This record gives sequence, structure tokens and C-alpha cells, in this order.
Amino acid sequence: MIIDARDPGVPERMEADIAIVGAGAAGIVLALVLAATGRKVVLIEAGGEKFSKASQEFYRAQQVEPVSHGPVDMFRRRVLGGSTSVWGGRCIPFDPIDFEDRDWIAHGRWPIRYEDVARHYPAALQWLDAGPAQFDAGAALPGEPADMVPAPPSDDVVLNRIERFSHPLHLGSWYRDRLEESANLTVLIEAPVRRILARDEGRVIAGVQIARQGRTGTASDIMIGADRVIVSAGGLETVRLLLSSDQDKACGLGNERGLVGRFYQCHLEGEIGQIQFTAPARQIRQDYEVAPNGTYCRRYIWLSPEAQRRKRLAGLVLRPSHPNIVDPAHENPVLSAMYLAKNWIVPEYARKLTSLEDCKRLELSRNPLTFWGAHVRNMALGAPRLAAFTAHFVRHRTLAQRKLPSVVLRDPREIYPLDINAEQEPNRDSRVFLGDQCDAFGMRRLVVDWRTTSDDHQRLVEGLKTLAAAFAQSDAARLHFEEDDFALARESRIPVGGHHIGTARMASNPAEGVCDANCAVFGTQGLYLAGAATFSTSGFANPTLTLVALALRLAEHLAEPV
Ligand SMILES: Cc1cc2nc3c(=O)[nH]c(=O)nc-3n(C[C@H](O)[C@H](O)[C@H](O)COP(=O)(O)OP(=O)(O)OC[C@H]3O[C@@H](n4cnc5c(N)ncnc54)[C@H](O)[C@@H]3O)c2cc1C
Repeated sequence: MIIDARDPGVPERMEADIAIVGAGAAGIVLALVLAATGRKVVLIEAGGEKFSKASQEFYRAQQVEPVSHGPVDMFRRRVLGGSTSVWGGRCIPFDPIDFEDRDWIAHGRWPIRYEDVARHYPAALQWLDAGPAQFDAGAALPGEPADMVPAPPSDDVVLNRIERFSHPLHLGSWYRDRLEESANLTVLIEAPVRRILARDEGRVIAGVQIARQGRTGTASDIMIGADRVIVSAGGLETVRLLLSSDQDKACGLGNERGLVGRFYQCHLEGEIGQIQFTAPARQIRQDYEVAPNGTYCRRYIWLSPEAQRRKRLAGLVLRPSHPNIVDPAHENPVLSAMYLAKNWIVPEYARKLTSLEDCKRLELSRNPLTFWGAHVRNMALGAPRLAAFTAHFVRHRTLAQRKLPSVVLRDPREIYPLDINAEQEPNRDSRVFLGDQCDAFGMRRLVVDWRTTSDDHQRLVEGLKTLAAAFAQSDAARLHFEEDDFALARESRIPVGGHHIGTARMASNPAEGVCDANCAVFGTQGLYLAGAATFSTSGFANPTLTLVALALRLAEHLAEPV
């Protein structure tokens, strides 16, 4: 049953076995799995069934200068389904090396093993409808060569790994009917949780308090009594809620050691250097391919675990990309059309296609007439190519349920800029915390102070050099990096922000993290966390597949008899 908490008939108090705060990927999967075990579950979602700017406004946060992070209200969504309403659908598992004791990565230890997560990947992929748990191209794409190009004779680079793509599934709409019909489940929408309730000075969980919108004061709030509360409000909002629940403990829940909000990790992302394929075109596999079950897959260039161990580096992948769409010098009609349409394309695209700051800078530095004229000329001269591309795009992206994940354009010279995605080491000083501004419910807004370390950048540069050296032994491709590229990798903090990781990390003891290996918050019995906030390290992989796997693991734990 789905209920709008603003409706007048909604009671002021409800009881549940388990209250789940936040109906994103983690919350929806947890609610459906736990309700199926017979537990009485209430799933509480701040947003409504449809995205609204008024609701999104509550997600606005403050930033610390110099601003290095994307605006957080742009890179997450306050709606049923959470950020899966805009995500790109890329599913990549973590690797065994992520869970190893890497003494060169500070605070890099997980309290669980790779196998503890990996056994939930098959089910997590089913929930995201992204195909079987096969990430080796040889197995996933029968009849196709395993490697992106014939591999160099070096163990430092891996070219046969794939990422799989979900539709991308918007879990709020995809699972709506199941949420409505599930026997033991009540879903409250438009129900922002104001604080988590505990007793015995914060030691035992008691439930949650929901702000009833449209009424003033806290007297008319809705209380949900529950012995178990799971906070799955996203990597940033989970922090806000734990810290705002300070009525029993001034420091907030789970925060006796001041760790809630610390170790905030995104990924180091951006465009650096180029790859030039020299192998015959028939041997190159850098575009999307469709696996037998219909999912899109794509190979990437991975710095091998052996190289990471030997050279004490971190996770790093490269993907061939296309030229910056902003600069009409690319002379590509499709890229010019994308640039002109950038305001209408979904955020994932807008973010991948160009940095908005770059756009502004380039637009402002040019004579507008020449700048826009050059884009229009590209489109006019390449009209037949643009028409063919548009027909393909409309068919495989706009109209298709399983959407072509992004645009991969073939360059006749086979030279492509490289998109990088690198792991960031957990850094205590990188953090989010409560600021002095408040939203309309009086909840303090977050301040984001995302930081990287010089070691992060040094590892990135060494990783790029290692990959370039490996390809230098190859007949199939070359990586080109200039000194300027390394300088960029050394300095740039590249403002993105769709991955919110590690802010309430799991650890083997309260001195190192906020929750334990079962995602139970240290110091408050019955309080659990789900989502990328609990990750001890970020890996290089996008977080959603792993956070769903961990949600399934948590559901299994909570389904055990007490
Ligand atoms: C543009 C973009 C592209 C992305 N692409 C990818 C990708 O390709 N692959 C990938 O793995 N990841 C991707 N991500 C990240 C991915 O979307 C997130 O990892 C994932 O959606 C997080 O799920 P979650 O359930 O932990 O949190 P969320 O999706 O943030 O859900 C949390 C929910 O909690 C609700 N909530 C918050 N506060 C409260 C409160 N006080 N009371 C009640 N409810 C509350 C929110 O409204 C929301 O619905 C992308 C993100 C963005 C923004």
C-alpha cells in the first residue's frame, strides 16, 4: 500500500517491525525482501511519486571554498526511486583486491571479505535487470574476442572485463506495483523523516519522526514505532539524519567518535590523454555490444590488480570517449547537435558530455556569432550523418525500454580522448557536516567539503604511466599523455558528485567506522544503515550494484531469528 503522508486520514502513530528511511535502490530492495519474510515493514520516502522542484529544494547543500564538487542537488534525486530516476545504469562489481589489506591505502580496510558481497551480485543484478553475473567478455559475449584489442604482452593491463548496463531501471516506477501490493508493506511518500528516535540516551532504537507537510510545529508529526530502523537515505542524507537526531545525544547517533560524515569519497573522474587504436578496425571492440540476454555491455581498460599491488597503486579504469562537444573544431555534426541540445538531455548525459564550467568558459571567450555559427555549420555539412544518427538514437535510446547507454562515435583516425575513473583513498578530512542554513522544516542543511590527497593524484599519474608503458609494447593501440595531462591529473579535483561513498563506513570497531560488518550502527541497538555510505573504500566501480548487494546481505541478516 502506498500512502501520501499529507493526506488527512493518516494516523499520527504507526507501529512496524522495521522502519526503512529512504526509498532509493537500497530502501526499495530491502523493503520488498523483508516484507516477503513476513516482517511488518514501513518504507518512508521524503519525495513523492513524481519529481518536483519544490521537494528537490530540500536537497540543496552548502559548499566549502574552493568549490571542487558538483552541486549536490543536481547529482541526486528526492523522489520515490531516489537517484535511480536519473542514473546511467552502469553495473560493475567490486574486485577481490578492494577487500585486501592494502597497507599503502590509508584507512583502506573492510571488515568483510569479497566473497561476502560477491555471493549477492547475481541477485543484485536481477533486481537491477542487468543480466547474469558475468563480467568477463569471453564468457558474457560468446563468439566475440575477449579483449578490447589484442592485448599487449604485459600483465599490467586488463582488456577483457566488461561493465553491464541496467535499462537504466528507475526502481520507483519499475517496482511501484509490487510496493503497492506487497502484503506486509506500507510505503509512506511525501514523508520526510525529521529525526530518528531512540531511548536510553540513544542506546536503543525506538522509531522515527516524520514531518507532516502543510502543518506547522512538530506536534502534528507522524511517529513510527519500530525496534529496527534502517537508514537508506543516500550517502549524504544519511549523514544529515544521523547528525540531526541529536535529541538524546548531542553528537547525533553513531557519532561518539565524530566519524559520521567523514571519509567522504567520490571518484576521481575526468578526461585525460588519448588512445590511438592501430589494430585493424575488425579487431577493435570499444563500442557497446549486446549480450545474449539483451543487456548492453562494454569493455574498459583496467589497471590490473597485479600492477596495483606491485606498484602500490589504486583502482583505475580508462574508457575511450569522444572529443569535447563544446568546441566546434571537432567538426562533428552529432557532437554539435548534442551541444545545442545539452539543456534537454538527462543529467547523466549532460555530465558525461561536458563539464558545464567548460561550456561557459568557452562560450564566453568566443565571439558568439562565430561560435554558434561553427556548430550550425557542422550540422548543415554533416546533415545526412546527423539524420542517420538521430534515427538510430531515437530507436535505441528514446523509444527503447532497454536504452543504449550513451553515444560512442567512431573516429576515422581511431583516436579517442580517454575518460578516467579512479579510486580515491579514504581521507578523514574529506567530509560532510551540518551547516548553519536550515530548510523549511528547520533541518540544518549539509556542508560538503570533499577533498582528495596528494597520494591520490600521485597514484593516478603512476597508474596512467603504467598503462601507457604496457600499451607501448603493443601493436594494437597506444596511449598518449603529455606533461600537461599529468599536471592535470596531479592538480585537478574534477568536479563531479554522483557517487556518495564512505560517509558512515563499516569497520571492525567504532574507532574506525560508524557501523559494523552487518551495517549495525555502533552504540545504538536496532539502528542499521544501507547504501554507499557504508562502503569502507570506493574502488573505481560505480556504487549501485554493490550497494544493492550489501542491502540484500543486510536483509538476509535481519531475516534471521533474533
Ligand atoms: C546522474 C547520475 C548518474 C549515475 N549513474 C550511475 C551509474 O551509471 N551506475 C551506478 O552504479 N551509479 C550511478 N549513479 C549513482 C546512483 O544513482 C546511486 O548510487 C544510487 O541511486 C544510490 O541509491 P541509494 O538507495 O543508496 O540512495 P538514493 O538513490 O539517494 O535514495 C535515497 C532516498 O532517500 C530519500 N530520503 C532522503 N532523505 C530522507 C528523509 N529524511 N526522509 C525520508 N526519505 C529520505 C530520498 O528522497 C531518496 O529517494 C548515478 C547518479 C547520478 C546522479
